[in-house]
Amino acid sequence: MDKEHLYVLAPALTLLFLSGLLLLCWVFQRQQRFLLWQCCAYALTALPFAFQSTASTEMLYRYAAISCTLYLLGGWFLAKCWAEHWRVPTQTRVSLAIALVTLISAIYYSNNLLARVHISSAGIGLIMLLPVLSALRHRHSPDWLDKVLLTSALIYSVITITRPMIITVLGHSEFEKFANSVYWFASAMSTLFFAIFFTVLMAAIAIRATIRQLRNERDQDSLTQILNRRAFYELARCRLEDKRLLPMAILAGDIDHFKRINDTWGHSRGDEVLKLISATLQRNVRGFDLVARFGGEEFVMLLTRIDLAEAEQVAQRIRLELRSDHSVLPKNATLTMSFGVAPIENAKQLESALKEADDLLYAAKHAGRDQVHVSGNNYQNIDFEHTMPNPGVSASHI
Ligand code: GH3
Ligand code: MG
Ligand code: MG
Repeated sequence: MDKEHLYVLAPALTLLFLSGLLLLCWVFQRQQRFLLWQCCAYALTALPFAFQSTASTEMLYRYAAISCTLYLLGGWFLAKCWAEHWRVPTQTRVSLAIALVTLISAIYYSNNLLARVHISSAGIGLIMLLPVLSALRHRHSPDWLDKVLLTSALIYSVITITRPMIITVLGHSEFEKFANSVYWFASAMSTLFFAIFFTVLMAAIAIRATIRQLRNERDQDSLTQILNRRAFYELARCRLEDKRLLPMAILAGDIDHFKRINDTWGHSRGDEVLKLISATLQRNVRGFDLVARFGGEEFVMLLTRIDLAEAEQVAQRIRLELRSDHSVLPKNATLTMSFGVAPIENAKQLESALKEADDLLYAAKHAGRDQVHVSGNNYQNIDFEHTMPNPGVSASHI
């Protein structure tokens, strides 16, 4: 192969290289499938690119339909990559219809290279434009990386549709030595530029998604999707630094006789109860408040900008909501929870408030369960064992 051919093959080889990189990224991640679709798009585009770079004019005419099909498939895979990332429909049928019309028209004008270039560019560009338009319609608040992707995808689709027109208007419609034409050079340069740009962008998006997922796995309880103990402490310390959020309150809650729920209805029903409680707790908090599962069937909430009386009301509301909820347990069973509520008046009180709320919670258990004990009140200390229900007496005391 002579030097000239090597030069014209460079765009196709670069596309293949990027395709290999994307494949590697996908193999390592095995999650973001859009990387795999992008890899297919590049590989499928690289093939006709390489062919057109080296083929004679006669060969170009003979295999025009195959080249056009591969380009259309490449465009469709790129559209699929974007659609999957934006979670919008791939619109396979519309894309197929556009591809068929493009192919039939390209075959009809098989002797007119200029017409064929116009037709195939319009077809490929339109297929890529479909998910972009859907994303523009459906997405309400894309973040900055998504905005960059959306804008660049829109620009690239429009450029692909209009490229032959622009080049023709500029007076470069001489395609006889295709690989040496201005059109070919401009196509190769813009395709390469966007291919590199989209690779960097999608890799950044994939890395960001992985970091977010790892952070979620680190901070969230996997069953209930609320904060775990570690994340609670980290976020609570941040909240305490903001004096505008004072006074605060700690609510410590523990499900009553949860072991019996597991024993009576099975562990998976127990898990459903844990999810129900997490959802109920979250429904009863405001913007800056925190809800965490501290372990087993123990939950802790940090309520901000709240006094003790209001915090008690929140705990009572949750307790009553749970008592009347029969979405998980049968109608004859009552789900109850005990709470301890302690105030936080300054930033240094987190640990002591947690300890106080925990002590009050266990005082509530000793006092018979299904109640809220609040800091500063004098509660009678009832012997814990005497509050234990007889097994199987009633559903409320399962
Ligand atoms: P008390 O009213 O005194 O709090 O009694 P209890 O039965 O709720 O408390 P105990 O500490 O005796 O039992 C807690 C039970 O919680 C035992 C354990 O099997 C169950 N548990 C802990 N984590 C999970 C979980 O993730 N899923 C389910 N289903 N059960 C769990
Ligand atoms: Mg319990
Ligand atoms: Mg417990």
